[in-house]
Amino acid sequence: MRVLNSFIFLFLLAFNFTMAQKKTKDLFVNELMAKMTLEEKLGQLNLPTSGDIVTGQGKSMNVKERIEKGEVGGLFNIKSIAKIKEMQDIAMTKSRLKIPLIIAMDVIHGYETTFPIPLALSCTWDMNLIEKSARIAAQEATADGINWTFSPMIDIARDPRWGRIAEGSGEDPFLGSLIAKAMVKGYQGNSLVANNTLLACAKHFALYGAAEAGRDYNTVDMSRNQMYNIYFPPFKAAVESGVGTFMTAFNDVDGIPASGNKWLFTEVLRNQWKFKGFVVTDYEAIKEMTMHGTGDLQHNSAMALNAGIEMDMVDEGFVQTLPKSLKEGKVTQKRINDAVRLILEAKYDLGLFDNPYIYLDEKRAKTEIFTPENRKISREIAAQSFVLLKNENQILPLKTNQKIALIGPLHNSKENMPGTWSVATDLSKAISLLQGFKDTVGAEVEIKTAFGSNLEANETLQNNATMFGRTIPRDTRPAQEIINEAVAVANQSDVIIAAVGESSEYNGESSSRTRITIPQVQKDLLDALYKTGKPVVIVLFTGRPLDLTEENEKATAILNVWFPGTEAGHAIADVLYGKVNPSGKLTTTFPRNIGQIPIYYNHKNTGRPLSEEKTEKCEFDKFKTGYLDECNTPLFPFGFGLSYTTFEMSNLKLSNTQMTAKQTIKSTLTIKNTGQYDGSEVVQLYIHDKVGSITRPVKELKGFQKIFLKKGESKEITFEINEELLKFYNFDLKYVAEAGEFDMYIGNNSSTKMKVTFELK
Ligand code: BGC
Repeated sequence: MRVLNSFIFLFLLAFNFTMAQKKTKDLFVNELMAKMTLEEKLGQLNLPTSGDIVTGQGKSMNVKERIEKGEVGGLFNIKSIAKIKEMQDIAMTKSRLKIPLIIAMDVIHGYETTFPIPLALSCTWDMNLIEKSARIAAQEATADGINWTFSPMIDIARDPRWGRIAEGSGEDPFLGSLIAKAMVKGYQGNSLVANNTLLACAKHFALYGAAEAGRDYNTVDMSRNQMYNIYFPPFKAAVESGVGTFMTAFNDVDGIPASGNKWLFTEVLRNQWKFKGFVVTDYEAIKEMTMHGTGDLQHNSAMALNAGIEMDMVDEGFVQTLPKSLKEGKVTQKRINDAVRLILEAKYDLGLFDNPYIYLDEKRAKTEIFTPENRKISREIAAQSFVLLKNENQILPLKTNQKIALIGPLHNSKENMPGTWSVATDLSKAISLLQGFKDTVGAEVEIKTAFGSNLEANETLQNNATMFGRTIPRDTRPAQEIINEAVAVANQSDVIIAAVGESSEYNGESSSRTRITIPQVQKDLLDALYKTGKPVVIVLFTGRPLDLTEENEKATAILNVWFPGTEAGHAIADVLYGKVNPSGKLTTTFPRNIGQIPIYYNHKNTGRPLSEEKTEKCEFDKFKTGYLDECNTPLFPFGFGLSYTTFEMSNLKLSNTQMTAKQTIKSTLTIKNTGQYDGSEVVQLYIHDKVGSITRPVKELKGFQKIFLKKGESKEITFEINEELLKFYNFDLKYVAEAGEFDMYIGNNSSTKMKVTFELK
């Protein structure tokens, strides 16, 4: 009883404290708003770009004068304490109400210390590491004056043609939701007031990853059921973890551009999910609504505000047109006030009203950015993100007595290592593959190098895929001559390491592709290298799933390293030489060819499924779902990734084969490291709801554990199944679990067949 009383006392104390805090904030914001003119209010809703870092077509003009006039709420993509301080000084000394600016940046996968691209990060399946990467990003960004990041990007994507698949966490809503939470926690920490945490932004709400034909910015048309079950969950998870802001998407949603979609932002985000922060548009997204065909800037600005959007990025639609719309009764003063309040509250939460210079500490900028410690962690995380796709004859790990030929257009590029959306990084400081080899095994291993081929035969295409300083110098000699030179080098080696694939801007925004293969010039190089008869180890750089059918047939090994970040070369050498045993698992399906797209593991069954046997054997069956000329299965399924060692799972058991809504079932199994190396395995749990009121996916990821085992070691592991894991949105969009039978699968990728069955009563 005593314990209970003190618990209640502490709870009330904390509750009163929170209420008092809220009261103080309300009072502060009310008093400030009472002093504001309409122009000053609209100014808070205005987010121009600094022009320092280019991420869109529109430019913001006369920013300094506008800050002075109180017409700017914040700025984004501005780098360095000096530049930010200059702007904050104007707000604090020259503007009438001295409201501090909020300072944003696309800190997507690290700041100066860059981590692997988000798609790669997701392949670690390690929430602690992912959170740590966001924590370090926040630490460094805030040390450099930033207090708001446009991250996490949590768009589910099932189409590798879409370049921005690189920026998200792949195709799965369950994993995507956990990652969204980890990222928000890493950025925002326990308290936004701290000078080393920043506001996070869940983007792009919503459905951006479903752009038709994978063409960036394209139309989306989707059932609400699919929205709620597949595309929304990571966003809902972000709200649950307290994300401070949301960003709109460029596409339309059910016929209305996201940036003016009231159902999306008011009904779903605020009413259903109880989101309390503010929403910013994507870059000029209001202006773009005119091209979508919903009207002029005045109309669209009013539509966006009324939809539940608070801040206008670059458009100037709010500042320019809302006064007129207010006069004409198209928007209300109350809606404007509500929007302003949310932005002022965010600034309050960040501690900017107490100290507008809280994030402008020169000393921190000098000591907390790109530190050896942060780089060390980046190297560790990068190594965990690599996915070993093939390893014939155990060619990997390499031995230091083997002579190496390092060949390919990416073998000595620093600039392409950090990957897309690494706007704060210093490209010249990234570690190339060659440098990584020299630093780690250079003293023992004989390394010879050759360029081998250009990135692309077509120069214009190569230039478009290597923008923003990610240049790969072109070799202007005839392709065959470049290949011959490489073959001569290869012939002197024991093992060929081919550094091939995409450049970092071959994916990312506005970087969609219709041919998702390694570019043909590089394939020609690979063909010449296979012909030498030497083992060819492909170190694959890519920001999207590629069709690797040919490479999978001909290369000896394929290590997919994505874009590993600042420490790329070191991390790759760590894995190739076995210092780290690869354990990354794909979070997006790799098709056999582009015609299979969209292909994803959690698909529905159809009424005419191909039999399991024929699916496995890749056999055609008339009147069954399939292709005349291709298998139904992907080349590499979701969840797939090899290790230098092998694991065996056995003894799958359930504590009970029946459960009620209030009960749980424990599932146990034994996992053993049966190979020659210590290593980690990601044990994955999938569930299939066999009968539903709506059709259900053949499998859905519902749990996983990353287990480290020394060689020979085995462990018993346990998963718990509860009613929550069985829930989905039904036809009426109610979140329910339905009684009936479920198959539960366990394995090390989504194609696993190991299953048991249970029943929910
Ligand atoms: C992108 C956003 C980004 C914004 C600001 C847009 O083009 O779609 O993801 O946050 O620019 O840089």
